Amino acid sequence: MSGSTAQDNPNQPSRTPSFSWDRARAQLTDLGKGRINLAYEALDRHMDGPTADRTALRFLTRDSLVAEAISYRALNDRANRFANVLATLGVRPGERVYGLSQRIPDLYAAFFGAIKHGCVFTPLFPAFGPEPIRQRVEIGEPAVLVTTERLYRRKVADWVQGVPCLREVLLIGGVDEAPPGTRDAGTLMDEVSPDYATRPMDAGAPVLLHFTSGTTGTPKGALHVHEAVITHHVTGQYALDLRPGDVYWCTADPGWVTGTSYGMIAPLTNGTTLVVDEAEFDAERWYRILQDQAVSVWYTAPTAIRMLMRQGPELARAHDLSALRFLASVGEPLNPEAVHWGREVIGLPFHDNWWQTETGGIMIANRPDLAIRPGSMGQPIPGIEAAVARQGEDGIELIEEPDQTGELVLKKGWPSMFRGYLHQEERYRKCFDDDWYLTGDLARRDADGYFWFIGRTDDVIKSAGHLIGPFEVESALLEHPAVAEAGVIGVPDEVAGETVKAFVTLKPGHTADKALQKSLLGLARQRLGPAVAPRQIEFRDELPRTRSGKIMRRLLRARELGLPEGDLSTLEGGSNE
Ligand code: ATP
Ligand code: MG
Repeated sequence: MSGSTAQDNPNQPSRTPSFSWDRARAQLTDLGKGRINLAYEALDRHMDGPTADRTALRFLTRDSLVAEAISYRALNDRANRFANVLATLGVRPGERVYGLSQRIPDLYAAFFGAIKHGCVFTPLFPAFGPEPIRQRVEIGEPAVLVTTERLYRRKVADWVQGVPCLREVLLIGGVDEAPPGTRDAGTLMDEVSPDYATRPMDAGAPVLLHFTSGTTGTPKGALHVHEAVITHHVTGQYALDLRPGDVYWCTADPGWVTGTSYGMIAPLTNGTTLVVDEAEFDAERWYRILQDQAVSVWYTAPTAIRMLMRQGPELARAHDLSALRFLASVGEPLNPEAVHWGREVIGLPFHDNWWQTETGGIMIANRPDLAIRPGSMGQPIPGIEAAVARQGEDGIELIEEPDQTGELVLKKGWPSMFRGYLHQEERYRKCFDDDWYLTGDLARRDADGYFWFIGRTDDVIKSAGHLIGPFEVESALLEHPAVAEAGVIGVPDEVAGETVKAFVTLKPGHTADKALQKSLLGLARQRLGPAVAPRQIEFRDELPRTRSGKIMRRLLRARELGLPEGDLSTLEGGSNE
């Protein structure tokens, strides 16, 4: 295993200056009159070649670490059957199909089957409580809900009568007794043909409706279109280093966009074998999976990495992780400590990358062809133009000089860009200024073109004339050996406007006392200077997090200041079961 992957890939795109989205789009299979289908690229396209008999998915159930293997051909057949079931039931292209299920094989078949049939798919987190599910159903008005018998009884049965748009509830994963108003999808799928002519769709026809993580407020429904698949495909290569034959594990749930773009689509368009684990995070289990499945590319999130770090290096070292070639992280800023830890303990550094539900795919990355800068999000992928901007008199002005903080903006025109917020046209319009998409995140670009995350515009702290990004303060605190996780907010202050307050969780074996508090404050002052260092540090057993693993700073702040808590539908452990 080599410590760096920077020089290993002579064919990387940055060395292909001719990259253009139009040329990339030309790789899509023309299904007639320029029409395409996202699912065709992931599945049908492989059917005449050697990939058809390769394992597409390896499923690990909660109770077993022995994988069930499903070939590309078998998955394609199963998806075709699902498409035929939809056709038989009179479901029309353009109608929405919601998925609410644990990570089981037929969720993947339903996903691709619905898309083959031209429907718009929306994945929901199975851990959502009944209320967030009902809300999202009311907003998106699906014609079909695909779920399991257990989830239906626990989370849907009580309110489903009041939702007339929902014509079909299809149960996957085996059914003991189908409740009234539902059908056993497995039986229906067995009865129909495994052949289905995947429907040709306009490149700009909707294919996915994704709700955002709700970190900053009520989740928004972002709409994506069929041609997004070309972004998934190329970023799978350019940012995650996916190659045919890789064993790839994406730990994100399909309930949020990483779990579909990179936990379903990109791995299959690229001909890899995708590992899917039904269970939740467990350090020992995760190392076992990396080892036993001989995972070569691993895509995970900072929260998970920090939880592994919390366990100490021994557990990692007790496993053979030598099959790994590339590690990547997304969702939140990756603290430099975590990058170094990867290098020291796993033998490979983590490559942080940045994107949003709205961008549909990875936009900025510590790409395989670049040297990593720990703490940075990396550089734009080929075809993406990113810049830092400030608000001027008439709209935004791009900041040319390096190392200035401003809003991160992206030039419009990449295929996986969202095409609307469902029912919120005005809000969508406000995301753009002429040719530029405004991300709502603050960043700076250094002289070499690397981007550094400062914070969300909503989270940034203004203290005595300084603009303080929580990430910078959190990263400094994480350098202390006792700190497992930190969440930083601004609290009002008469003199400074705001001052910094940090909430900290500790690694096992450390005591939350005055001495530790003092030592943390000392470290922060030394690292950040007194103007930026926290004034207060409070110890917590845990920090509030979204289901996609992001620290909810707005909730820390609301609770601290006694403000309304806002939308908590995506809070982990919040409206659970
Ligand atoms: P909402 O928009 O509902 O408040 P959200 O922004 O968390 O929720 P997502 O689209 O899931 O919803 O997350 C995208 C955001 O996550 C980015 O705008 C950014 O703030 C953060 N993010 C993602 N990856 C990174 C990263 N590598 N470094 C820093 N921040 C990141
Ligand atoms: Mg957002």
